[in-house]
Amino acid sequence: MVDRLTPERRSWLMSRVRGKSTMPEMAVRRMAHAMGMRFRLHRRDLPGRPDLVFPRYRTVLFVHGCFWHRHAGCRKATSPKSRTEYWQAKFEGNVARDERNETQLIRMGWRVLTIWECDTKDSELLREKLESVRSIRGGKDDGLD
Ligand SMILES: [Zn+2]
Repeated sequence: MVDRLTPERRSWLMSRVRGKSTMPEMAVRRMAHAMGMRFRLHRRDLPGRPDLVFPRYRTVLFVHGCFWHRHAGCRKATSPKSRTEYWQAKFEGNVARDERNETQLIRMGWRVLTIWECDTKDSELLREKLESVRSIRGGKDDGLD
């Protein structure tokens, strides 16, 4: 049986398979860049390969798809009507893995921030979240990473 995916979910899935960046990730990167913040992408040496890493602020940022990572209370976090057990297990696995990665990162001394896919459509909210990363030291990026 084939699961029915919306075109949006399918393209997200395919982009993940190819290891390319998703649109929400691109929105976050564009904003961080516009704000003059310095970051690295997908550092493989960190648990969960965070989407953006801000070394200066010792902060990692995950851009999570609302569907796959189960954004609580979000209308995008729907549950497929077929193969419900399969999806349930998959979702639980994703959420458990996210929690594991976050715990490990915190133990390593990182601050962990999650930006949800639906947040990235609101550029003011996005800016506020990134400001909160920057405010940790109250300063401006001066290239001394
Ligand atoms: Zn959401």
